Amino acid sequence: MIASVPKETAPDEQRVALVPELVPRLTKAGLEVIVQSGAGESAGFFDAAYEGKGARLEAEVFDKADVVLKVQPPTIDEIGRMNEDSILIGFLQPYTNATAVKALVARKITAFSMELMPRITRAQSMDALSAMSTVAGYKAVLIAASRLPRFFPLLMTAAGTITPARVFVIGAGVAGLQAIGTAKRLGAVVEAYDTRPAVKEQVESLGAKFAELGLAAKDAEDKSGYAKAQSKEFYQKQQEMMSRYVAAADVVIPTALVPGQRAPILITEEMVRGMRAGSVIVDLAAEQGGNCALTEAGREIVRHGVMIIGPMNLPSTVPFQASEMYARTVTNYLVHLLKDGKPHLDLGDELTRGPLVTHRGEVLHEVVKAKL
Ligand code: NAD
Repeated sequence: MIASVPKETAPDEQRVALVPELVPRLTKAGLEVIVQSGAGESAGFFDAAYEGKGARLEAEVFDKADVVLKVQPPTIDEIGRMNEDSILIGFLQPYTNATAVKALVARKITAFSMELMPRITRAQSMDALSAMSTVAGYKAVLIAASRLPRFFPLLMTAAGTITPARVFVIGAGVAGLQAIGTAKRLGAVVEAYDTRPAVKEQVESLGAKFAELGLAAKDAEDKSGYAKAQSKEFYQKQQEMMSRYVAAADVVIPTALVPGQRAPILITEEMVRGMRAGSVIVDLAAEQGGNCALTEAGREIVRHGVMIIGPMNLPSTVPFQASEMYARTVTNYLVHLLKDGKPHLDLGDELTRGPLVTHRGEVLHEVVKAKL
């Protein structure tokens, strides 16, 4: 069995799906590993390092593989170069990428989408989304700190005392908690809010204050720990109650998401107008429509004196560790799918079945099928 690792071709994608350190893990599991020359270069992993760990370098890798490991969804041309009945593992964006899903079906490829990993204890080491959210939460704070015309920490200098920046994080999931921790380490005063009440303790354990909005979210989370959508009235009330926290902040980092839906609007234009000039919003929900009404995905804009940044693909901007973390989740998943060096797909196992999108010329994932 050959596992291959192509160079990512999506614009601005710097990550790679396998790092040299993990090649022996796959060879020990009975696979031969082929890496496209230059595949890891933009992440800081060079050809010689892959070779040193036992991988073979090739110029073209799609047509040689039994398993292709990717970060971004393959292009239609790349799918066309894959072997029939081979396996693909990567972020496939299956809900919005109908063309690719149809091409995978036509080519009879068994495709697993890392976004669809079930949130069960057994899958924790394969949870690529959480790994990438960690990177995004960290980087969002660094972007905010570099754009803010103020320091983050309290400084007592001969030239005067500098008060710390105030950071407000909305949504304290994986990315939000990482943002809180990073902002605290830089010395900011941090407040945070989430609709899931269970989060309060985690926020406080990082040394931040939980914003008590006096709102009771109905049915706040589903059984996998994800937030459930709330009513229009709830969001209006939330905006109202959060206004003073947003106005008092130098930096606002909204990260609030509801799976499968557009991100809720939690910061209105009116609320932006209430912020001090020079303040910064880094909207981590930009790729899902944005938590701020004014966010433009992929752009940095200034409205009412406030800088509003809608970053896209932040994990790719920390490509070394983002690749290491992603590669660990993908490798763990691939090893789970093998028995005696061969794919062994137990379709009754939710860990195998959850991320499985296409198999033997069919779409097996119900939600993806419905979206098609
Ligand atoms: P996410 O990226 O889907 O959402 C980010 C956060 O936004 C969540 O905390 C959510 O509650 C919050 N949010 C949604 N609507 C909001 C609103 N109106 N106002 C404020 N906040 C709002 O979520 P995530 O970070 O991927 O994960 C959420 C939780 O899932 C984690 O904190 C964890 O408890 C759980 N989790 C479990 C596993 C596992 O069991 N394997 C793995 C990862 C995460």
